[in-house]
Amino acid sequence: MASSPDVIVIGAGVLGLCSAAELAARGHAVTVIDPGGANASAVAAGMIAPAIESLLEETTPERAALLRRARDLWPAFTETHGLRLHREGAEWRGDDAETAIVGLRSLGFKAEAVSGGLLTSEDWRVDVAATLAALKRVPGVSVVQARASRLSGAARRWRVEADDGRIWFTPTVVLATGAAAAVEGLPFEVAARVAAIQPIKGQLSYLAGLSTIAVIRTSGAYVVPADGGVVIGATMQAGQRNTDPDVEAARAQTALGLGLLEQTGSEGIVRVGIRGATPDGLPLAGPTEADGLHLALAPRRNGWLLGPLVARVVADGIEGAAPSPDAAALDPARFD
Ligand SMILES: Cc1cc2nc3c(=O)[nH]c(=O)nc-3n(C[C@H](O)[C@H](O)[C@H](O)COP(=O)(O)OP(=O)(O)OC[C@H]3O[C@@H](n4cnc5c(N)ncnc54)[C@H](O)[C@@H]3O)c2cc1C
Repeated sequence: MASSPDVIVIGAGVLGLCSAAELAARGHAVTVIDPGGANASAVAAGMIAPAIESLLEETTPERAALLRRARDLWPAFTETHGLRLHREGAEWRGDDAETAIVGLRSLGFKAEAVSGGLLTSEDWRVDVAATLAALKRVPGVSVVQARASRLSGAARRWRVEADDGRIWFTPTVVLATGAAAAVEGLPFEVAARVAAIQPIKGQLSYLAGLSTIAVIRTSGAYVVPADGGVVIGATMQAGQRNTDPDVEAARAQTALGLGLLEQTGSEGIVRVGIRGATPDGLPLAGPTEADGLHLALAPRRNGWLLGPLVARVVADGIEGAAPSPDAAALDPARFD
Protein backbone atom coordinates (compact mmCIF):
# COMPACT_ATOMS: atom_id res chain seq x y z
CA MET A 1 0.00 0.00 0.00
CA ALA A 2 1.47 3.38 -1.02
CA SER A 3 -0.25 5.63 1.57
CA SER A 4 -3.68 6.50 2.96
CA PRO A 5 -4.34 10.19 2.30
CA ASP A 6 -7.53 11.95 3.43
CA VAL A 7 -8.40 12.64 -0.20
CA ILE A 8 -7.18 11.25 -3.52
CA VAL A 9 -7.68 13.51 -6.52
CA ILE A 10 -7.46 11.66 -9.82
CA GLY A 11 -6.22 14.11 -12.45
CA ALA A 12 -3.81 17.07 -12.25
CA GLY A 13 -5.53 19.53 -14.56
CA VAL A 14 -6.74 22.88 -13.32
CA LEU A 15 -9.86 21.40 -11.70
CA GLY A 16 -7.99 18.62 -9.89
CA LEU A 17 -5.18 20.89 -8.70
CA CYS A 18 -7.45 23.77 -7.63
CA SER A 19 -9.57 21.26 -5.66
CA ALA A 20 -6.44 19.75 -4.11
CA ALA A 21 -5.10 23.19 -3.11
CA GLU A 22 -8.43 24.26 -1.60
CA LEU A 23 -8.68 21.00 0.38
CA ALA A 24 -5.09 21.30 1.58
CA ALA A 25 -5.74 24.88 2.72
CA ARG A 26 -8.66 23.49 4.75
CA GLY A 27 -6.32 21.01 6.45
CA HIS A 28 -6.77 17.82 4.42
CA ALA A 29 -3.82 15.66 3.30
CA VAL A 30 -4.29 15.30 -0.45
CA THR A 31 -2.62 13.01 -2.97
CA VAL A 32 -3.07 13.85 -6.66
CA ILE A 33 -2.53 11.03 -9.15
CA ASP A 34 -1.75 11.84 -12.78
CA PRO A 35 0.40 10.14 -15.43
CA GLY A 36 1.86 13.53 -16.47
CA GLY A 37 2.21 15.00 -19.93
CA ALA A 38 0.30 17.88 -21.49
CA ASN A 39 -3.37 18.23 -20.65
CA ALA A 40 -6.02 20.78 -21.68
CA SER A 41 -5.09 22.97 -18.72
CA ALA A 42 -1.44 23.21 -19.76
CA VAL A 43 -2.35 23.97 -23.37
CA ALA A 44 -4.90 26.67 -22.47
CA ALA A 45 -4.38 30.42 -22.77
CA GLY A 46 -5.24 30.99 -19.10
CA MET A 47 -7.82 33.73 -19.62
CA ILE A 48 -10.13 34.38 -16.68
CA ALA A 49 -12.64 36.02 -18.96
CA PRO A 50 -16.24 36.26 -17.76
CA ALA A 51 -16.98 39.37 -19.84
CA ILE A 52 -15.89 38.46 -23.36
CA GLU A 53 -16.74 34.77 -22.88
CA SER A 54 -20.29 35.77 -21.91
CA LEU A 55 -20.51 37.93 -25.01
CA LEU A 56 -19.21 35.21 -27.33
CA GLU A 57 -21.45 32.56 -25.86
CA GLU A 58 -24.49 34.89 -25.86
CA THR A 59 -25.12 33.84 -22.29
CA THR A 60 -28.00 34.85 -20.05
CA PRO A 61 -27.41 37.55 -17.40
CA GLU A 62 -27.64 34.77 -14.76
CA ARG A 63 -24.83 32.78 -16.40
CA ALA A 64 -22.73 35.93 -16.82
CA ALA A 65 -23.22 36.69 -13.12
CA LEU A 66 -22.10 33.14 -12.22
CA LEU A 67 -18.96 33.54 -14.34
CA ARG A 68 -18.28 36.90 -12.66
CA ARG A 69 -18.68 35.37 -9.20
CA ALA A 70 -16.28 32.57 -10.25
CA ARG A 71 -13.74 35.17 -11.38
CA ASP A 72 -14.11 37.06 -8.10
CA LEU A 73 -12.80 34.02 -6.21
CA TRP A 74 -9.44 34.33 -7.99
CA PRO A 75 -7.84 37.18 -5.98
CA ALA A 76 -8.23 35.37 -2.64
CA PHE A 77 -7.27 32.04 -4.25
CA THR A 78 -4.05 33.49 -5.69
CA GLU A 79 -3.28 35.20 -2.38
CA THR A 80 -3.75 31.98 -0.39
CA HIS A 81 -1.62 29.87 -2.70
CA GLY A 82 1.07 32.37 -3.74
CA LEU A 83 -0.04 32.53 -7.39
CA ARG A 84 0.11 35.49 -9.75
CA LEU A 85 -2.99 37.05 -11.30
CA HIS A 86 -2.68 39.44 -14.25
CA ARG A 87 -5.38 42.11 -14.32
CA GLU A 88 -4.43 44.19 -17.37
CA GLY A 89 -7.82 43.54 -18.96
CA ALA A 90 -8.75 42.54 -22.48
CA GLU A 91 -9.35 44.40 -25.72
CA TRP A 92 -11.95 43.45 -28.29
CA ARG A 93 -11.13 44.64 -31.80
CA GLY A 94 -13.50 44.93 -34.72
CA ASP A 95 -16.29 46.89 -36.39
CA ASP A 96 -18.74 45.33 -33.95
CA ALA A 97 -17.10 46.98 -30.90
CA GLU A 98 -19.94 49.45 -30.31
CA THR A 99 -22.50 46.65 -30.23
CA ALA A 100 -20.14 44.66 -28.02
CA ILE A 101 -19.91 47.52 -25.51
CA VAL A 102 -23.70 47.65 -25.31
CA GLY A 103 -23.83 43.87 -24.91
CA LEU A 104 -21.19 43.81 -22.16
CA ARG A 105 -22.82 46.66 -20.25
CA SER A 106 -26.22 44.98 -20.47
CA LEU A 107 -24.64 41.96 -18.74
CA GLY A 108 -23.23 44.23 -16.02
CA PHE A 109 -19.63 44.34 -17.28
CA LYS A 110 -17.59 47.53 -17.62
CA ALA A 111 -16.31 48.33 -21.11
CA GLU A 112 -15.03 51.48 -22.77
CA ALA A 113 -14.35 52.42 -26.37
CA VAL A 114 -10.70 52.61 -27.41
CA SER A 115 -9.13 53.09 -30.81
CA GLY A 116 -10.12 50.12 -32.99
CA GLY A 117 -12.37 48.48 -30.43
CA LEU A 118 -13.12 48.25 -26.71
CA LEU A 119 -11.24 47.62 -23.49
CA THR A 120 -12.71 45.79 -20.53
CA SER A 121 -11.00 45.62 -17.15
CA GLU A 122 -13.24 42.67 -16.21
CA ASP A 123 -11.19 39.93 -17.89
CA TRP A 124 -7.95 38.76 -16.27
CA ARG A 125 -5.51 35.92 -16.86
CA VAL A 126 -2.93 33.63 -15.29
CA ASP A 127 0.23 32.06 -16.72
CA VAL A 128 -0.86 28.46 -17.01
CA ALA A 129 2.55 26.76 -16.69
CA ALA A 130 3.58 28.78 -13.62
CA THR A 131 0.17 28.36 -11.99
CA LEU A 132 0.00 24.58 -12.51
CA ALA A 133 3.56 24.24 -11.17
CA ALA A 134 2.74 26.37 -8.11
CA LEU A 135 -0.45 24.42 -7.37
CA LYS A 136 1.55 21.17 -7.38
CA ARG A 137 3.80 22.65 -4.66
CA VAL A 138 1.00 23.73 -2.29
CA PRO A 139 1.78 22.40 1.24
CA GLY A 140 -0.43 19.41 2.00
CA VAL A 141 -0.65 18.36 -1.66
CA SER A 142 1.53 15.56 -3.01
CA VAL A 143 1.49 14.69 -6.69
CA VAL A 144 2.23 11.12 -7.74
CA GLN A 145 2.96 10.12 -11.30
CA ALA A 146 0.58 7.25 -12.04
CA ARG A 147 -2.58 6.48 -14.01
CA ALA A 148 -5.53 5.32 -11.92
CA SER A 149 -6.76 2.18 -13.60
CA ARG A 150 -9.40 0.90 -11.21
CA LEU A 151 -11.54 2.16 -8.38
CA SER A 152 -13.31 -0.18 -6.02
CA GLY A 153 -14.91 -0.30 -2.61
CA ALA A 154 -17.53 2.18 -1.52
CA ALA A 155 -18.95 3.89 1.52
CA ARG A 156 -15.85 5.87 2.41
CA ARG A 157 -13.30 3.11 1.91
CA TRP A 158 -12.18 3.51 -1.65
CA ARG A 159 -9.37 1.48 -3.13
CA VAL A 160 -7.56 3.23 -5.97
CA GLU A 161 -5.32 1.06 -8.10
CA ALA A 162 -2.75 2.48 -10.51
CA ASP A 163 -1.67 0.80 -13.72
CA ASP A 164 1.80 0.24 -12.25
CA GLY A 165 0.27 -1.86 -9.45
CA ARG A 166 0.39 0.74 -6.66
CA ILE A 167 -2.69 0.85 -4.43
CA TRP A 168 -4.09 3.56 -2.16
CA PHE A 169 -6.98 3.49 0.31
CA THR A 170 -8.87 6.65 1.10
CA PRO A 171 -12.27 7.74 2.41
CA THR A 172 -12.63 10.35 -0.32
CA VAL A 173 -11.94 10.41 -4.05
CA VAL A 174 -12.26 13.40 -6.39
CA LEU A 175 -12.51 12.39 -10.03
CA ALA A 176 -10.94 15.17 -12.14
CA THR A 177 -9.93 13.26 -15.25
CA GLY A 178 -10.92 15.86 -17.86
CA ALA A 179 -12.24 14.42 -21.11
CA ALA A 180 -10.65 10.98 -20.48
CA ALA A 181 -12.61 7.73 -20.50
CA ALA A 182 -14.18 6.60 -17.22
CA VAL A 183 -11.84 4.86 -14.79
CA GLU A 184 -12.88 1.21 -14.40
CA GLY A 185 -15.00 0.33 -11.41
CA LEU A 186 -16.92 3.61 -11.09
CA PRO A 187 -20.48 3.19 -9.84
CA PHE A 188 -22.91 2.90 -12.76
CA GLU A 189 -24.49 6.39 -12.51
CA VAL A 190 -21.10 8.07 -12.26
CA ALA A 191 -19.65 6.06 -15.16
CA ALA A 192 -22.66 7.11 -17.26
CA ARG A 193 -22.03 10.79 -16.46
CA VAL A 194 -18.36 10.49 -17.40
CA ALA A 195 -19.25 8.65 -20.61
CA ALA A 196 -21.64 11.49 -21.58
CA ILE A 197 -18.85 14.09 -21.47
CA GLN A 198 -18.27 15.50 -24.93
CA PRO A 199 -14.63 15.93 -26.02
CA ILE A 200 -13.77 19.19 -27.79
CA LYS A 201 -10.42 19.45 -29.52
CA GLY A 202 -8.76 22.88 -29.35
CA GLN A 203 -5.45 24.19 -30.56
CA LEU A 204 -3.42 27.35 -30.31
CA SER A 205 0.05 28.41 -31.46
CA TYR A 206 2.89 29.63 -29.26
CA LEU A 207 5.12 32.29 -30.80
CA ALA A 208 8.25 33.22 -28.86
CA GLY A 209 9.54 36.78 -28.80
CA LEU A 210 6.23 38.58 -29.49
CA SER A 211 4.42 40.55 -26.82
CA THR A 212 1.20 42.22 -25.74
CA ILE A 213 0.27 43.61 -22.34
CA ALA A 214 -3.50 43.19 -22.46
CA VAL A 215 -5.17 40.19 -24.03
CA ILE A 216 -6.41 41.11 -27.53
CA ARG A 217 -9.42 39.36 -29.02
CA THR A 218 -11.46 39.52 -32.20
CA SER A 219 -13.92 37.32 -34.00
CA GLY A 220 -12.07 34.02 -34.62
CA ALA A 221 -8.81 34.69 -32.75
CA TYR A 222 -7.13 35.93 -29.59
CA VAL A 223 -3.59 36.85 -28.57
CA VAL A 224 -2.53 36.24 -24.97
CA PRO A 225 0.87 36.80 -23.29
CA ALA A 226 2.65 33.52 -22.45
CA ASP A 227 6.17 32.60 -21.28
CA GLY A 228 8.31 35.11 -23.19
CA GLY A 229 5.97 35.19 -26.16
CA VAL A 230 2.28 34.97 -26.99
CA VAL A 231 -0.26 32.28 -27.74
CA ILE A 232 -2.67 32.77 -30.61
CA GLY A 233 -5.82 30.68 -30.51
CA ALA A 234 -8.03 28.87 -30.46
CA THR A 235 -10.06 26.36 -32.39
CA MET A 236 -12.98 24.25 -31.11
CA GLN A 237 -13.81 20.94 -32.82
CA ALA A 238 -16.59 19.14 -31.02
CA GLY A 239 -16.39 15.36 -30.87
CA GLN A 240 -12.67 15.22 -31.73
CA ARG A 241 -10.25 13.41 -29.43
CA ASN A 242 -7.16 13.22 -31.60
CA THR A 243 -4.29 15.55 -30.73
CA ASP A 244 -2.88 15.90 -34.26
CA PRO A 245 -2.22 19.56 -35.07
CA ASP A 246 -4.31 21.07 -37.88
CA VAL A 247 -1.56 23.02 -39.59
CA GLU A 248 -3.83 24.90 -42.02
CA ALA A 249 -6.16 26.10 -39.24
CA ALA A 250 -3.16 27.16 -37.16
CA ARG A 251 -1.70 29.12 -40.07
CA ALA A 252 -4.98 31.02 -40.64
CA GLN A 253 -5.42 31.75 -36.95
CA THR A 254 -1.82 32.89 -36.54
CA ALA A 255 -2.22 35.31 -39.47
CA LEU A 256 -5.29 36.80 -37.74
CA GLY A 257 -3.40 37.09 -34.45
CA LEU A 258 -0.35 38.70 -36.04
CA GLY A 259 -2.73 41.20 -37.66
CA LEU A 260 -4.10 42.07 -34.22
CA LEU A 261 -0.56 42.60 -32.94
CA GLU A 262 0.47 44.48 -36.08
CA GLN A 263 3.63 42.39 -35.95
CA THR A 264 5.17 39.74 -38.16
CA GLY A 265 6.23 36.35 -36.94
CA SER A 266 6.74 32.73 -37.81
CA GLU A 267 4.05 30.06 -37.61
CA GLY A 268 4.90 29.12 -34.05
CA ILE A 269 4.49 25.85 -32.21
CA VAL A 270 1.02 24.32 -32.35
CA ARG A 271 -0.36 22.97 -29.04
CA VAL A 272 -3.47 20.81 -28.91
CA GLY A 273 -5.71 20.00 -25.94
CA ILE A 274 -8.95 18.10 -25.45
CA ARG A 275 -11.51 19.82 -23.23
CA GLY A 276 -14.43 17.95 -21.70
CA ALA A 277 -17.90 19.53 -21.93
CA THR A 278 -21.42 18.99 -20.65
CA PRO A 279 -24.57 20.01 -22.58
CA ASP A 280 -24.92 23.31 -20.65
CA GLY A 281 -21.21 24.19 -20.73
CA LEU A 282 -20.80 24.15 -16.94
CA PRO A 283 -18.76 21.50 -15.11
CA LEU A 284 -19.97 18.57 -13.04
CA ALA A 285 -18.75 19.41 -9.55
CA GLY A 286 -19.66 18.13 -6.12
CA PRO A 287 -20.73 14.93 -4.39
CA THR A 288 -22.25 11.90 -6.10
CA GLU A 289 -24.67 9.39 -4.60
CA ALA A 290 -21.67 7.14 -3.85
CA ASP A 291 -20.47 8.17 -0.39
CA GLY A 292 -17.04 9.79 -0.61
CA LEU A 293 -16.91 10.00 -4.41
CA HIS A 294 -16.90 13.57 -5.80
CA LEU A 295 -16.61 15.00 -9.30
CA ALA A 296 -14.67 17.96 -10.75
CA LEU A 297 -15.15 17.44 -14.48
CA ALA A 298 -15.95 18.98 -17.87
CA PRO A 299 -15.78 22.80 -17.66
CA ARG A 300 -15.66 23.24 -21.46
CA ARG A 301 -14.19 26.65 -22.48
CA ASN A 302 -13.81 28.13 -19.01
CA GLY A 303 -11.90 25.59 -16.95
CA TRP A 304 -9.40 28.16 -15.70
CA LEU A 305 -12.04 30.74 -14.93
CA LEU A 306 -14.07 28.17 -12.98
CA GLY A 307 -11.16 26.49 -11.12
CA PRO A 308 -11.56 28.13 -7.69
CA LEU A 309 -15.38 27.88 -7.82
CA VAL A 310 -15.22 24.16 -8.61
CA ALA A 311 -12.64 23.77 -5.83
CA ARG A 312 -14.92 25.47 -3.33
CA VAL A 313 -17.95 23.41 -4.34
CA VAL A 314 -15.93 20.17 -4.16
CA ALA A 315 -14.38 21.02 -0.77
CA ASP A 316 -17.75 22.08 0.69
CA GLY A 317 -19.26 18.80 -0.53
CA ILE A 318 -16.46 16.77 1.05
CA GLU A 319 -16.77 18.60 4.37
CA GLY A 320 -20.57 18.50 4.35
CA ALA A 321 -20.60 22.31 4.59
CA ALA A 322 -23.57 24.39 3.47
CA PRO A 323 -23.30 24.47 -0.32
CA SER A 324 -22.36 27.75 -1.99
CA PRO A 325 -25.19 29.42 -3.96
CA ASP A 326 -23.63 28.26 -7.24
CA ALA A 327 -23.33 24.59 -6.25
CA ALA A 328 -26.76 23.69 -7.69
CA ALA A 329 -25.75 24.93 -11.16
CA LEU A 330 -22.81 22.49 -11.10
CA ASP A 331 -24.69 19.54 -9.55
CA PRO A 332 -23.28 16.35 -11.13
CA ALA A 333 -26.79 14.80 -11.25
CA ARG A 334 -28.47 17.67 -13.13
CA PHE A 335 -28.70 15.84 -16.47
CA ASP A 336 -29.80 12.44 -15.09
C1 LIG B 1 -6.58 25.54 -26.82
C2 LIG B 1 -7.34 25.76 -25.54
C3 LIG B 1 -7.39 27.02 -24.98
C4 LIG B 1 -8.11 27.23 -23.78
N1 LIG B 1 -8.10 28.47 -23.21
C5 LIG B 1 -8.75 28.67 -22.03
C6 LIG B 1 -8.71 29.93 -21.39
O1 LIG B 1 -8.05 30.85 -21.85
N2 LIG B 1 -9.41 30.09 -20.23
C7 LIG B 1 -10.14 29.07 -19.67
O2 LIG B 1 -10.78 29.28 -18.63
N3 LIG B 1 -10.17 27.84 -20.26
C8 LIG B 1 -9.50 27.63 -21.41
N4 LIG B 1 -9.53 26.40 -22.01
C9 LIG B 1 -10.35 25.35 -21.41
C10 LIG B 1 -9.60 24.71 -20.27
O3 LIG B 1 -8.30 24.45 -20.69
C11 LIG B 1 -10.29 23.44 -19.85
O4 LIG B 1 -11.64 23.70 -19.57
C12 LIG B 1 -9.62 22.90 -18.57
O5 LIG B 1 -8.23 22.89 -18.74
C13 LIG B 1 -10.10 21.52 -18.23
O6 LIG B 1 -9.44 21.17 -17.04
P1 LIG B 1 -9.59 19.73 -16.41
O7 LIG B 1 -8.85 19.74 -15.14
O8 LIG B 1 -11.04 19.35 -16.40
O9 LIG B 1 -8.95 18.74 -17.50
P2 LIG B 1 -7.44 18.48 -17.96
O10 LIG B 1 -6.62 19.69 -17.95
O11 LIG B 1 -7.54 17.73 -19.25
O12 LIG B 1 -6.86 17.52 -16.84
C14 LIG B 1 -7.32 16.22 -16.66
C15 LIG B 1 -6.17 15.41 -16.11
O13 LIG B 1 -6.65 14.12 -15.77
C16 LIG B 1 -5.61 13.20 -16.02
N5 LIG B 1 -6.18 11.87 -16.10
C17 LIG B 1 -7.07 11.40 -17.02
N6 LIG B 1 -7.34 10.11 -16.76
C18 LIG B 1 -6.61 9.77 -15.67
C19 LIG B 1 -6.47 8.58 -14.91
N7 LIG B 1 -7.12 7.45 -15.21
N8 LIG B 1 -5.62 8.57 -13.84
C20 LIG B 1 -4.96 9.72 -13.48
N9 LIG B 1 -5.07 10.87 -14.17
C21 LIG B 1 -5.88 10.88 -15.24
C22 LIG B 1 -4.98 13.69 -17.31
O14 LIG B 1 -3.66 13.19 -17.45
C23 LIG B 1 -5.03 15.20 -17.11
O15 LIG B 1 -3.82 15.69 -16.58
C24 LIG B 1 -8.81 26.15 -23.19
C25 LIG B 1 -8.71 24.88 -23.74
C26 LIG B 1 -7.98 24.67 -24.89
C27 LIG B 1 -7.89 23.29 -25.45
